[in-house]
Amino acid sequence: MSGFVFWPWGREVLPRFFLLTVPFHHDGGGSQFPTTSFPHGSYWKLSSTIGEGLVPEGHVIHRLAGALNDAFAGQSVQVSSPQGRFAAEAAVLDGEVLRAAHAWGKHLVIDIDRPAEHLIHIHLGLIGTFTLAPHAPVRGQVRLRIGDGVTDADLRGPQTCELLDEAAWRRVRERLGADPIRDDADWTVPWRRVRASGRSISELLMDQSITAGVGNIYRAEVLFRHRIDPAAPGRDLRAATFHAIWDDLVVLMRAGVASGRIDTVRPEHTPQAMGRPARVDRHGGEVYVYRRAGQRCLVCDTPIEQRTVAGRHLFWCPRCQRRHH
Ligand SMILES: [Zn+2]
Repeated sequence: MSGFVFWPWGREVLPRFFLLTVPFHHDGGGSQFPTTSFPHGSYWKLSSTIGEGLVPEGHVIHRLAGALNDAFAGQSVQVSSPQGRFAAEAAVLDGEVLRAAHAWGKHLVIDIDRPAEHLIHIHLGLIGTFTLAPHAPVRGQVRLRIGDGVTDADLRGPQTCELLDEAAWRRVRERLGADPIRDDADWTVPWRRVRASGRSISELLMDQSITAGVGNIYRAEVLFRHRIDPAAPGRDLRAATFHAIWDDLVVLMRAGVASGRIDTVRPEHTPQAMGRPARVDRHGGEVYVYRRAGQRCLVCDTPIEQRTVAGRHLFWCPRCQRRHH
């Protein structure tokens, strides 16, 4: 088992120096996420799942793009590859202006103001980390460092770090589905794929070419919230049902961008409302089914079930989740 820890801040309270990282580490403890605001300029730590060797879900990548924009957008930046594997690319970018960072699903693009190839395309994969911190000497294997002499953004262990032109990025993007966090996303695009598919809705939601950025937690939780059987084939769903699932993903995932944690329980099912202990888990939020196998459903008291599909754990309530349409 594995998990991720990261140190995000809400953009509205982002201090000048901050850490935002998504490192891989051994799974096995509880979370220590903060519940109070932090002093300006201090470091604090937010633990999050993700567990079972998962790639961070899309909200983490959108938060990372926001942190990069807060630190560097509109400034000329120093770009280097201390480890050397991105050195040739870094050399042509060094000293140019960082226009903006964008996220699309689990992909991050950093747009540098120069002709030809100017887009740094990053996918963290399972073990990648991207950490923003006060300027300091390089430690460890840093594939890419972006800095301004005050703050360093250090990328380590990514699955992908490459320099692309617009056409090459378009080809990557064309393979990605609609991202519920993006304003330009259109639910009818994934719906055309879902309505034609005999695959289960739980598989379809995890397919990055259909819904980009949705990971194991959001898919399990959104299916619970709509009482959908995870085994229901996409083609059995009604358009209105998928539209409602999509709209819910938009709300849940954007809330995740704002808070840095995944909370999916309705107000009546919070620990406070139910008089139950708060959840202890690395993803740091209150959920209905994710990693709750054997525990009682918060709605109907039935034990939550778990099954492994394509190497991923699927969690659901067999009593609440019976809808196929
Ligand atoms: Zn239930």
